[in-house]
Formats: sequence, structure tokens, C-alpha cells
Amino acid sequence: MSKPDILVMYPTRPHAMAKLQDAYTLHRYDEARDREAFLAEHGPKCRGVVTNGHAALTRDMLDHLPNCEIVACASAGFESIDVAALADHGIAFTNTSAALYDDVADAALMLTLAARRELVQAHAYVQTGAWGEKGPYPLLSSLAGKRAGILGFGTIGAAIAERFAPLKLTIGYTARSKKDVAHRYFADPMDLADWADILVVIVPGGAETDGMVDAAMLAALGPTGTLVNVARGSVVDEAALIDALEAGKLGSAGLDVYRDEPQPDPRLTGLPNVTLYPHHASGTVETRDAMAQLVVENLAAHFEGRSLLTPVSAPA
Ligand code: NAP
Repeated sequence: MSKPDILVMYPTRPHAMAKLQDAYTLHRYDEARDREAFLAEHGPKCRGVVTNGHAALTRDMLDHLPNCEIVACASAGFESIDVAALADHGIAFTNTSAALYDDVADAALMLTLAARRELVQAHAYVQTGAWGEKGPYPLLSSLAGKRAGILGFGTIGAAIAERFAPLKLTIGYTARSKKDVAHRYFADPMDLADWADILVVIVPGGAETDGMVDAAMLAALGPTGTLVNVARGSVVDEAALIDALEAGKLGSAGLDVYRDEPQPDPRLTGLPNVTLYPHHASGTVETRDAMAQLVVENLAAHFEGRSLLTPVSAPA
């Protein structure tokens, strides 16, 4: 029996690519010089797509994929993929939230602690000899007893809450719908920011959440507040964030994601009250391997007629 044809829009880990190569005929759109022509030529025979959140997959592109049955995305975020169009075409869609939530939640915890306890600045204080010259480092603010607001309470938001609870943080959250958890629910993100000392952003990117964390929300967090963003740079009004941090209207920020990656605004990266990470929240060997393996297994499940491991349903 001939192998199903698969369009590779974005490659995954080498060992997983080798497995895909064995099981399918791969068409390397990611390596094509003229991608439009490549899609027009090879798209019609492809029954599946391997991609991740970095590659666009639009409704128009689906015109060239009339036989596509499944899109396996190797990331959690998929705002560049038109999932409503996939649903309209009856194309199954999978992502890899299930493989990466621990690492991303760890990164949120790390950035929260580092920003609040000034790890980077304190490290420099020891390293440069300032400690010996100037004396003890200034006193900071305790985490225990503070309020942590989690903006987005899906797979990763819930994992962040699990890590925050033992730190004696009081947890509140916003999501589109109230969850069956003991934490306080805020329907309005502004009310969450007003209530919280620390606001962790973990909603999806895309048009619906673009600029959701605005100047008013940052002002509500206030001069002793901390913003942590492990979602997408687009969710935060970055110009407002820079202004607030510069003016001391917001205390600190811990950021994994930015409007411009991989070269974030130097006005932001030059600030003393930021802790920065290079969009690497899921960047461990174990997790990236698990994400790649999920792509392999979802495709195998589909073509063997089994249930998908991590299907994503289309938006209502
Ligand atoms: P998820 O399980 O789909 O959860 C998303 C949460 O956001 C849900 O609670 C959802 O509400 C809420 N939400 C969506 N739109 C909203 C809106 N307009 N207003 C308020 N809440 C809204 O997704 P996840 O797996 O936790 O991942 C979340 C995002 O994290 C991804 O989309 C991705 O962009 C980002 N991410 C970043 C990294 C990184 O490297 N920094 C790694 C992985 C993921 P409901 O529950 O009510 O639907």
C-alpha cells in the first residue's frame, strides 16, 4: 500500500522526522524556494499537514489541500492557523499542550520568583562586587500572602495555579467560562488585574486577545505589581508596558514573549525592572521530544482509524 502524502510546513525534531519519513511520503514545503508553487503542485495529493504555530495556514491555502484530513501542530499556540476553516473543511486538528504544560508552568513560576525577588539584579550585585562595596541588597517583597491572577485558565493556566498554591499565594483567574475550581473567578480581566499583585498571562494569541493587557490593566496592577507573560507578545500592549515600567507605575515584569521576536524592543530589554527569557518556556529536550512524538502519534492514530490523542475542537 502506498504511503500517505504529508505536507511539512514546519519540521519537528529529527528523530520524529525520521519516523514520519518511514511512514509517509513527505513534501517539504518548509524547504521550498517558491512555497506558493510548491503548495499548488503538491498540496492536492497531501492527506495530512505537519506544522507548528509559527507557520500560517489560511483558508485560501486550504484550496490547495482538497484531500487534507488532518493537521498535526507541534505547538500549543495556533493563532496562525485558521482552525474555523479547518473545521469547515472537516479537517481534524491536534496540538501539543498536553506535552508542554509542565515546562511552561515552571517557566511562569521561575519568572514570577525571579522578577519579584530580583534574581538577575541580585546575581549581578554579587558578581560585580557591589555587595562588598555598598552593603546588603535592598529588602524585597514576600510572595506568601500575595494575590496571583491567572489570565487564562486552560491546560497551562491550571498547571500554573498548581505551582502557585504551595507558595501560599491566593489565586484568582479569568477565562471565558468559570471553572470548577476553588479559586476566585473574575469574568472581567480588568477586575482580575485590579485585585492581583501578580498577573500571569496565559491566554492564546490572535486577534481576539490582541492588546488585552492594556495601560489601564497595568496601572491597576500598580507600582508594586508584577506582570508575567508566557503566552504571546501580542496579548500585551508592549508600548504601554514599557511606559508603565519606565515610570514606575508597574513594579516589574517577567517575560518569555515579545511583540518582536527574536529582537524585542531595546527600550524594553534595557529596563532594570524586567526579567527576560527568550521564548523558551517549553525549551527542554524532554518536552520538545514529547511534542514531536505527539505529532507522530496523532498522525498514526488518524491513519490507523484510532481516536486522536490530543484533538482540538474548533471554536464555538
Ligand atoms: P488552552 O488550554 O486552550 O487555554 C486557554 C485559556 O485561555 C482558556 O482558559 C480560555 O478560556 C482562555 N481564553 C481564551 N480566550 C480568552 C479570552 N478572549 N478572554 C479570556 N480568556 C480567554 O491553552 P493552553 O494550552 O493553556 O495555552 C495557552 C496559550 O499559551 C497558547 O495558546 C500559547 O499561545 C501560549 N503558550 C506559550 C508558550 C511559550 O513558549 N511561552 C508555550 C505554550 C503555550 P476557556 O477555558 O473558558 O475556553
